Amino acid sequence: MQKFTITIHGGAGTILKQDLTPQLEQLYLSGLQQAQDAGFAILENGGTALDAVVAAVVSLENNILFNAGKGSVFTKNGEHEMDAAVMEGKNLLAGAVAGVKNIANPVELALAVMQQSNHVFLSGQGAVEFAKQQNINMMPDDYFFSQFRYNQWQAVSNSDTYMLDHNISIAETILKDKKFGTVGAAACDKYGNIAAATSTGGMTNKQYNRIGDTPVIGSGTYANNNTCAISCTGHGEMFLRAVAAYDVSCLMEYKNLSLTDAMQIVVNEKLMKINGEGGMVGVDNAGNFAMIFNSEGMYRGVKSSDGTNEAAIYR
Ligand code: ASP
Repeated sequence: MQKFTITIHGGAGTILKQDLTPQLEQLYLSGLQQAQDAGFAILENGGTALDAVVAAVVSLENNILFNAGKGSVFTKNGEHEMDAAVMEGKNLLAGAVAGVKNIANPVELALAVMQQSNHVFLSGQGAVEFAKQQNINMMPDDYFFSQFRYNQWQAVSNSDTYMLDHNISIAETILKDKKFGTVGAAACDKYGNIAAATSTGGMTNKQYNRIGDTPVIGSGTYANNNTCAISCTGHGEMFLRAVAAYDVSCLMEYKNLSLTDAMQIVVNEKLMKINGEGGMVGVDNAGNFAMIFNSEGMYRGVKSSDGTNEAAIYR
């Protein structure tokens, strides 16, 4: 029988046990569990991998702890600009949005771009206009506000430093700790189809209109039924330069590597060589999964029809 599986992430980085209180740790773990349950329920009921990854990412976007949708980080000029992408592996269909504001669930807008437009990638005002036409849920600025991300931004807002997410403490810690809070999912359904989705607020104090790897098909997000579905998190500039997600697919396609072996090479060799801190989660078309990171930690989880069901944070 075809194994079906969903794997998710909520960001990678210098996430150390001593930085999280037991209560906060519990909140993160239950947020992850909730998201993978939402995706897995769809797979179990015969739904598609595409619907499962979107449901899991929506759940994480709605959770203020993660840097996507509600709780997104602040740009250099104090706004929230979000990126998201979705891709399905059967027909290589993809949809993505970059730099969108006031969209409650950017992954749903990316899905609408894929399914309701004849484009793949929309940005800025054009994306927001399209969202209105599609009746995508819009929210005022304060919906996206979180005090701890505001504090993070305040600590670096007078500098040219841009930084990664999941920091919970003061400026010096922020500058030495790098934490990434993008969310994403990859799934394989009962029919052997695979899909991936990723969503992010990007990096704190990023230049406005900066676009990371998340919405760039092949860098932060990729899916191909012949190889794998991948969602990345980490320092986006390096993931862009490494074309990280597609590189895993290429190693599988052209070198016949397994998902795990291909991901190891990309995360622990190729990205490491260019100081590309972060990680990724993925599945292949047999429902096997991999969750690999070169940082101290990665919020992650997996649930499969073979009984696997776990959420984890640290190495
Ligand atoms: N990759 C994201 C970006 O560069 C950041 C993250 O993963 O948290 O926008």
